[in-house]
Amino acid sequence: MIDYEDQKGWSLETKLVRGATLRSQFGETNEAIFTTSGYVYESAEEAEASFNGTKERFVYSRFKNPTVEMFEKRLALIEGAEDCRATASGMAAVFASLACQLSAGDRLVAARAIFGSCQYICGDLLPRFGIKTEFVDGRDLDAWKKALSTPAKTVFLESPSNPGLEVIDLKPVCDLAHKAGATVVVDNVFASPILQKPLKFGADVIVYSATKHIDGQGRVLGGAVLGSKEFIVDKLTPFLRHTGPSLSPFNAWTLLKGLETLELRIARHCDNALKVARFLEGQKGITRLLYPALESHPQHKLAMSQMTAGGSVIALEVAGGKPAAFALLNKLKLIDISNNLGDAKSLICHPSTTTHQRLTPEQKAEVGITDGFLRLSVGLENSDDLIGDLRQAMA
Ligand SMILES: *Cc1c(COP(=O)(O)O)cnc(C)c1O
Repeated sequence: MIDYEDQKGWSLETKLVRGATLRSQFGETNEAIFTTSGYVYESAEEAEASFNGTKERFVYSRFKNPTVEMFEKRLALIEGAEDCRATASGMAAVFASLACQLSAGDRLVAARAIFGSCQYICGDLLPRFGIKTEFVDGRDLDAWKKALSTPAKTVFLESPSNPGLEVIDLKPVCDLAHKAGATVVVDNVFASPILQKPLKFGADVIVYSATKHIDGQGRVLGGAVLGSKEFIVDKLTPFLRHTGPSLSPFNAWTLLKGLETLELRIARHCDNALKVARFLEGQKGITRLLYPALESHPQHKLAMSQMTAGGSVIALEVAGGKPAAFALLNKLKLIDISNNLGDAKSLICHPSTTTHQRLTPEQKAEVGITDGFLRLSVGLENSDDLIGDLRQAMA
């Protein structure tokens, strides 16, 4: 058996490379991909014991799989969370983290600046099952105070938000949420487990789209939910076990390989993004530029008190609306037009017509998604090449 307690004392880099490795009887160096749906029992008695909970072992890969478990336990070590469950995508993680705890009649308070599909779950889907969702401006502590003056079951937020890079003051919001009786779920995708640890500020549950920086190489979808043993085992696990949004062993293996280099890649993402943001800041024709590590970001101080660097994503607005935004995208030669982010390749998208196209004009205006607004995910290429590409496209 692995001594996870021992591994908790390892440094981040060591956890990323070696945490929770389950080595089989063959002594392989690289983590094995266990592509099996089921497991074989020595006896009928063992099968019985495995199902009634008196024996802990792998039973069925919808519940648990050795490769998936390596990913879950490694991510828990990195986050500093008691436990973790992996899911087939980030959205499966977001939905499971909310649906496993909410019932008809419960109140959900959510920041209004969130990813389009998170907005759908909080604003459209959950209310169909009798959950009362209230959206607030996440930057406004008074709005949180007001919304949380009434008891609530759950608070959901992203910080920084996708795509407008709004930052939420995590500590006071978590304190207010707890006074209202709520569990705080933080979608930590933009910061990644390397740059921000929401548990330290009082958050209860962390969700990831592992598709983004954790894979970071555009290969697989995946997600994860982290929190206390009690939340993960008592609330989340039965929901996942019986509804089945399981991560495949191959994808879990790919994500394990992603974790090995995560810290190195995030450092390069942040260096490159800062250089590109500094270049863009001085350009004519850019009417708004948002990057948390720049002093010009309206919440720069708060962002840097919660994160150790600015992350991989820059938001910008070009003068001239949609025609100008599309012209810029179409002139880029190196940076690809794509709605993914956190990838080794630099990617740019026009949220108003892609990731956030289902929002009403009013909702778009509230979170700053104008016709000239673009989201740039800065990759691992040479920053001079990226700046050169942007310069020629804006010329
Ligand atoms: C991409 C993303 C998700 C969804 O993740 P998938 O893996 O694409 O399902 C959720 N939240 C945020 C902030 C994201 O950027």
